[in-house]
Amino acid sequence: MMHVVYPPHCLTCNAIVGTDGGLCADCWGRTPFLTGLRCDLCGVPLPGDDPTEIACCDDCLRIARPWSKGRAVLAYRDNGRRLVLSFKHGDRTELARAAGAWMAIAARDIRLPGQIVAPTPLHWRRLFKRRYNQAALLGARLASELELEHCPDLLKRHRFTGSQEGKGRDARFANLVDSISINPRQSVRVADRPVLLVDDVLTSGATLAACAEACYAAGATDVRVVALARVVKDG
Ligand SMILES: [Zn+2]
Ligand SMILES: [Zn+2]
Repeated sequence: MMHVVYPPHCLTCNAIVGTDGGLCADCWGRTPFLTGLRCDLCGVPLPGDDPTEIACCDDCLRIARPWSKGRAVLAYRDNGRRLVLSFKHGDRTELARAAGAWMAIAARDIRLPGQIVAPTPLHWRRLFKRRYNQAALLGARLASELELEHCPDLLKRHRFTGSQEGKGRDARFANLVDSISINPRQSVRVADRPVLLVDDVLTSGATLAACAEACYAAGATDVRVVALARVVKDG
């Protein structure tokens, strides 16, 4: 009867909501969920009405994406950005419950039999500071919703790469070269299997690209990605 003492609050404001881990109607309306036609590789919204059409954005035409399909739940702006930031830095870990379920809905059509779910890794120094890997919390929930195996330590970040914030795209890719690899203890699990990579925010795609390359190098048959939020350029 915890709710008598602590009624569930909306994930992005203090309004009391009827069920655990949701958004109130106001915040739901102000959260930029991605709907309609989107890029098949990175989830960015594209002009067009038919969401079943397979389309590709300009960025994904220009930059090699070493994964076959990608999905995202919301745009990284306004309430979408607030939601991700409170999850990342504000210890709102209960967000993973709702957000992981939204991600499972977004990734439903890219689920494959035998797919192994793996989060993008944090360096142990950052993990120590933050106490949890937000991508792994999302991955656990997503995997259980999609009835897939979750391997939270499939990938390892063996070099501290510092923050990617404020870096341009080329600098982000250069910063990550050879910084991520398969955890040797888990390498047998990825051979001859498809992988679904999970991250909280897809910005340049550099981290997910480094993770995907590591999975293929270990024998993965296919790599797909899902992010909670996609950074969308203005205009
Ligand atoms: Zn609210
Ligand atoms: Zn794209």
